[in-house]
Amino acid sequence: MTSIRQLHQQLVNKEKTAVEIATEFLARIEALEPQVKSFLHLTPDLALAQARKVDEKIARGESLHLLAGIPIALKDNLCTKGIPTTCASRILENFVPPYESTVTQKLRDLGAVIVGKTNLDEFAMGSSTENSGYHVTANPWDLSRVPGGSSGGSAAAVAAQECVVALGSDTGGSIRQPASFCGVVGLKPTYGLVSRFGLVAYASSLDQIGPFGRTVEDAAILLQAIAGYDPQDSTSLNLPIPDYSQFLKTSLKGLKIGVIKETFGEGLDQVVAEAVNQALAQLKALGATIKEISCPRFRYGLPTYYIIAPSEASANLARYDGVKYGIREDADSLIDMYTKTRAKGFGAEVKRRIMLGTYTLSAGYYDAYYLKAQKVRTLIKEDFDRAFQSVDVLVSPTSPTTAFKAGEKTADPLSMYLSDLMTIPVNLAGLPGLSLPCGFDGQGLPIGLQLVGNVLREDQLFHVAHAYEQSTDWHKRQPSFTN
Ligand code: GLN
Repeated sequence: MTSIRQLHQQLVNKEKTAVEIATEFLARIEALEPQVKSFLHLTPDLALAQARKVDEKIARGESLHLLAGIPIALKDNLCTKGIPTTCASRILENFVPPYESTVTQKLRDLGAVIVGKTNLDEFAMGSSTENSGYHVTANPWDLSRVPGGSSGGSAAAVAAQECVVALGSDTGGSIRQPASFCGVVGLKPTYGLVSRFGLVAYASSLDQIGPFGRTVEDAAILLQAIAGYDPQDSTSLNLPIPDYSQFLKTSLKGLKIGVIKETFGEGLDQVVAEAVNQALAQLKALGATIKEISCPRFRYGLPTYYIIAPSEASANLARYDGVKYGIREDADSLIDMYTKTRAKGFGAEVKRRIMLGTYTLSAGYYDAYYLKAQKVRTLIKEDFDRAFQSVDVLVSPTSPTTAFKAGEKTADPLSMYLSDLMTIPVNLAGLPGLSLPCGFDGQGLPIGLQLVGNVLREDQLFHVAHAYEQSTDWHKRQPSFTN
């Protein structure tokens, strides 16, 4: 297993050049992609150009950022100047952004080696990456299963070691659920911690960009690089960012951990419940005190989300009209052109959400649905506020099941929506959430543990996650087909 620090050491000690590292990863991508299909576009020229710049820096004796020369993949809903950005939608098939997102610009400036743009559910709507308008990505642990979603391409690429770290976005679980399905670490930061300038909007009151890594430390290093105030995103918080590396400790003495009672109910796989219970015993052995916590309104998260997210999506996606971006269908009138373009360009799930959201925002139903959902959202936030008065970090399974088979849930949207039952309330409350591996089921599929922190307490998530990870071997396992 290769971590950021190991590669950094190899570069600094001149054991390998950045070009050699980039070439190795590009070769690995070429070998594995026919089966995993994590990527929508590869960017070998950009990767090698970045690597050459890093090698020149080393030759000049300049100091190197930890991410310099590190192969990284980007979810394809992050705008990259001069590189196609499709959001896995046919409507943006030919879209090449004229500008760069803040987070990817930061990574380019630090010398990170961008190897490509990863697959997702169209416009980040989905939990399996099967809603991509292009192809389905496989789970590296079992190629007949989904990698989760919507950031399934990023999670699969990290699990298959096609890159070291990756960026995803999380509106209702899209980083944590695929991290759980693919056996890697994924973090959704506090709302406002990371700039979303250049992230294609899905549901703006929920969307956050966050890191994937094979270790907690790698995820922390990537978050450190992308977090921070950005005047170009009015929702970004103007606060100092702590040095997360200081919190990667191994003892949990004095820490209070709450187990969310309601996440152990109906629909939870036995094997997932057992793995999470064992993880709790381990956290206790590391010095934490464990206490059961009730968040009674947690269960309203899913219906609340499926009103708020589609409402916001219906507004955000109005811009794809064939005039300004992407494809355009010829027609005799303007209205016909809009209609034909949108009918052809959007997939079924995106259309379903636009219709749902248009309905819930319509004059006659706004109060009954949208306004009510916003009120319930406040109640859910209150449950968390109360919980954090008595504990530091909350724990739950990340997802009720391990990775399901491709095709298993595509005909039943409701069962697909249920895989985000435990991640969605965290977005509604704007809190940070992290998923990390806590075991494997009988078929060798990874199980994820979700840690939820209070606002801006990513430090505590890293602390608990690192201590747990270092006391287990889960992160050292690799999917056998990638060897
Ligand atoms: N699966 C959820 C949805 O379909 C969450 C997606 C996300 O976080 N982008 O909306």
